[in-house]
Amino acid sequence: MLNLDFHPTGRHFLQIPGPSPVPDRILRAMSLPTIDHRGPEFGALGLQVLKGIKQIFKTEHPVAIYPASGTGAWEAALMNTLSPGDQVLMYETGHFAWLWQQMARKLGLEPEVLARQGSDAALPHAPSWRRGVQADLIEERLRKDTQHAIKAVCVVHNETSTGVTSDIAAVRRAIDAARHPALLLVDTISGLASADYRHDEWGVDVTVSGSQKGLMLPPGISFNALSPKAIEASKRSKMPKSFFAWDEIVEMNATGYWPYTPNTNLLYGLSEALDMLLGEGLDQVFARHQRWAAGVRAAVNAWGLEIQCADPAVYSPVLTGVLMPEGVDADAVRKLIYERFDMSLGTGLSKVKGRMFRIGHLGDSNDLTLLGTVAGCEMGLKLAGVKLKGSGVQAAMEHFATNKQQQA
Ligand SMILES: *Cc1c(COP(=O)(O)O)cnc(C)c1O
Repeated sequence: MLNLDFHPTGRHFLQIPGPSPVPDRILRAMSLPTIDHRGPEFGALGLQVLKGIKQIFKTEHPVAIYPASGTGAWEAALMNTLSPGDQVLMYETGHFAWLWQQMARKLGLEPEVLARQGSDAALPHAPSWRRGVQADLIEERLRKDTQHAIKAVCVVHNETSTGVTSDIAAVRRAIDAARHPALLLVDTISGLASADYRHDEWGVDVTVSGSQKGLMLPPGISFNALSPKAIEASKRSKMPKSFFAWDEIVEMNATGYWPYTPNTNLLYGLSEALDMLLGEGLDQVFARHQRWAAGVRAAVNAWGLEIQCADPAVYSPVLTGVLMPEGVDADAVRKLIYERFDMSLGTGLSKVKGRMFRIGHLGDSNDLTLLGTVAGCEMGLKLAGVKLKGSGVQAAMEHFATNKQQQA
């Protein structure tokens, strides 16, 4: 049982970068009765969500929807396109990129890790965790692979552990410039439907995403957006697969059904999320997140704290990583904020554990919930004894009051 005394009144502030707060409209849609997944009503729902989700990925090609978390869709992307022992080039931007490498290794692939070199004063042990993918390193490596032993390049679009995005179009250009046939596999589990993403235009072969971040749904479904080249590769792939195999899913999806029981109520939620996002317009959705992110960054700057992302060109619109001054345990600050103000913030993962926390600005949110979020952080930081230069709340209010949301 939940300890209800602990959450006495009001909404919990779920300011982690996924799961994101789910709009009531979506929760209500999900509360409809579960229907026969072989019945006529279901087929119509299936066709509707499969059509809508293509618009979100900006693709004309099939999108597989799995009743699995994002990790399952990561596995699906590798298993459908590759063969045992294949070399894959994986760029390390942070913890999630690292986890995908570990998975590739466990599945019997041979990941080669690329990462930005150089030094970083604030995070000397993780210089590649503060900036986006350096596409020229990928191009340089692929040019040396004259035998085309590398079968795929894997990158994370919005690195949720750090709050750093990567230029996916630049990675495509790097692969093309090297005239290399490797597939491009991209994780935008936390970027989709919050940050600009274009599966077809950017020449991505498999895009991996999940439900519980920008799509504003609970965890439990995930996606593979495919390209014709990925589908061709799947016919030659020798990795063992059954549940995750695209062929049967894509074939049955043509009539709105799945080979197994799909997650019916989450698909009701997806249908509602698609109505909301496409109704608002994706450009508007992206602008809204950019504006929120800028407001939160204005607060961090006013506090005089350092933002984890060291390159303003690739700040994430989805979350902001906040580095703590030397000697302050970020998790102790998070714990204090949780206990005093009923707000969850993202923890620092692996290499940055205790060094930083993450503020999510996605899902069911608005200017005032983000001001509340910033206020909770500011009070918690002060109570934890962190010396702040100025008021982040004041700076965020200034930002939200003077930067009106543009109507598309
Ligand atoms: C959340 C996330 C994952 C993991 O997804 P799960 O749904 O937890 O399995 C992987 N990559 C990124 C970038 C994420 O944000």
